[in-house]
Amino acid sequence: MSAISLTPAQHAEIGAASLDTGHSLSAFGSSKISHRHRERLAVVYVRQSDPQQVLQHRESKELQYNLVDRAIALGWPRERVLVIDEDQGQSAQSAASRHGFQRLLTEVTLDHVGLVLGFQMSRLARSCKDWHQLLELCARFGALLTDLDGIYDPADYNDRLLLGLKGTMSEAELHMMCQRMHQGRSNKARRGEFFNHVPIGYVRSESGQVVMDPDEEVQAVVRLVFDNFDELGTAGAVLRFLVAHDIRFGVRRHEGPTRGQLDWRRPCSTTLLSMLHHPMYAGAYSHGRHPIDPRRKVPGRPRTGRTTPSMELWEVLQTDGLPAYITWERFLANQERLQQNCSRSAAKGCPRKGDALLGGLLFCRRCGARLVVGYSGAQNRPRYRCLRAYQSYGLEKCQSLSAAPLDEFVSRQILHVLTPATIELSLKAIEQTKQERRRLTKLRRQRLERAQYEADRAARQYHVVEPENRLVARQLENSWEEALRRQRELEEDLRRLEHAQPVELKSDELEMIKSLSIDLPTLWNAIGTTAADRQIIIRHLIERVVVDTQGESERVDVEVHWSGGFVSQHELIRPVASYRQLSGYDELMARIEDLRTAGRTSAQIADQLDDEGFHTPSCNSFDALTIRRLLSRHGESQDPERSGPPQWRLRDLAEKLEMPTGTLRSWLRRGWLHGKQQEGAHGRWILWADDDELHRLAQLRQHRHESTGLPVPIELTTPIPRIEN
Ligand SMILES: [Zn+2]
Repeated sequence: MSAISLTPAQHAEIGAASLDTGHSLSAFGSSKISHRHRERLAVVYVRQSDPQQVLQHRESKELQYNLVDRAIALGWPRERVLVIDEDQGQSAQSAASRHGFQRLLTEVTLDHVGLVLGFQMSRLARSCKDWHQLLELCARFGALLTDLDGIYDPADYNDRLLLGLKGTMSEAELHMMCQRMHQGRSNKARRGEFFNHVPIGYVRSESGQVVMDPDEEVQAVVRLVFDNFDELGTAGAVLRFLVAHDIRFGVRRHEGPTRGQLDWRRPCSTTLLSMLHHPMYAGAYSHGRHPIDPRRKVPGRPRTGRTTPSMELWEVLQTDGLPAYITWERFLANQERLQQNCSRSAAKGCPRKGDALLGGLLFCRRCGARLVVGYSGAQNRPRYRCLRAYQSYGLEKCQSLSAAPLDEFVSRQILHVLTPATIELSLKAIEQTKQERRRLTKLRRQRLERAQYEADRAARQYHVVEPENRLVARQLENSWEEALRRQRELEEDLRRLEHAQPVELKSDELEMIKSLSIDLPTLWNAIGTTAADRQIIIRHLIERVVVDTQGESERVDVEVHWSGGFVSQHELIRPVASYRQLSGYDELMARIEDLRTAGRTSAQIADQLDDEGFHTPSCNSFDALTIRRLLSRHGESQDPERSGPPQWRLRDLAEKLEMPTGTLRSWLRRGWLHGKQQEGAHGRWILWADDDELHRLAQLRQHRHESTGLPVPIELTTPIPRIEN
């Protein structure tokens, strides 16, 4: 075989083989590496199971990165070594949450990989299932595997056997390690000596004994919590008490160089509840209060799956032996009370299948929490509230808004995106993206062809040079190699692009979408369509809605996160309770006074304001009565075209008297004040009350407020006879 007929990679192979002779295993292994393997990528998969290991086991990390040098020594150029280290610090024992491992598998299936390098085979896959999947794919696509001990070809029977054994052993090793740890822990726990962390108010002495925290203030806070719980009865009330008096928990640091140092942390509901539930405060030792249920574990979230069985099912419970803050009887009573609090709230709690459409999808822009749905009032109207700050930290309530306007707004958005015209547009956009993709693919193909041509030319040039002219030959060899590498990279790029091609809709599916979009508004508003049906549709289209009310005003910023990643920004105008809440209140009043000065009548002013885009707090248009009322409230004289007793709307009068509208309506029913209902099925009530009447009503209100249940003096309930005009 003459040197001229060898490709650069074959040259490299010879070079690598001669390099490896120092190491018997590598030399043996490298005979498995062929030209075909070197044409493909060498992938170094780096993984350490948790962030602490990443920090502490530097050498192991460096050793793993050194695998890059090993790949180069085996004949791969540096540019063709791909390092996958996305799984650093991932502790999950299955591949589901390890994106790096998934990427490794994808590259293998795309036939891009010639060699997979890992520090130890056990580090490549942590369970036999993942391991055998990798082996199977590597065998099918002809990729080799290597660790510090050697190079393996999974398609070879002997190597496959060895690799299978290594996988089994690593799984067994892992199992034994866990088993030993668990066994040791259980033995210690049975003796009452195993402690993870001791709760607030306790410390561990030098000899390992659990004693009360020597800091007296820490102890006092713990006692205060239990005393307050006896008095107030709920954890929430205790939390708010602690916050109101700025009382903090003294927490000892668990780790680090400042271990044992005292931190004063603000109370939160989780800590408070775990204190109330912890048997150690009654002097009891317990273990296994929260066993893990593997079925409930969520991949990628290590703290999930905890269960809370009843006391009889705890692994260990010894009711004395530790220093106690409260008696065992008091602890049991507290548990009973907490339990009852729970069931009470469950009984009273809001029905889950309510009218609110966005439950679970709505988030607060101020603090990022999920808003909860609550139902209130006689009509059980849904309202979205952000309560995390209030419930967890006893702080002020964050924001809340009535569900109806927001639901209606989001429904409008949904129906808008599902109109035939919009769908037509979206389909066109998809078609355009497809064309764009086709163009891109074509471009990549052309580039690839050019690269192929250049590689061929470089090969021809190399072959025609005289072998004696070594300098030129080496130069040409390098450029040939470069051209081949470029060609290979472009090929892989193209393959990735084709692999990421989205699923195409079939023509009958397209027709179905189009025909459904025509019927949708009718379906959406049909009587048979329940709130649950609408919720399902919304969940298909919208991932989340983020809201931020601008103070108390009528303006709400709404951010809709659509499925697929598009985010649209909107501003919603919601009804509010009073004029003063309107963001443009001053502007509105100034405009009314201007028009008034210009000599317009109330009716004319109302029309003018409607034309100029102003609206009432309830988002309605203005009328003459509203204008007169606004003017009189603003200290203006009555409308000159009409003199008569001041008239009020029910809600405005209730606001003036600072009382609920419902109560005022019940007074009206009892005949305690004058009123007249306007024409129509839901005609508005017009109430009559001058200054004397207002005074009487205020007195009546005070009487009802202060002496509930007592008979009301007749002079307070009799309206002053109304002068008809
Ligand atoms: Zn919030």
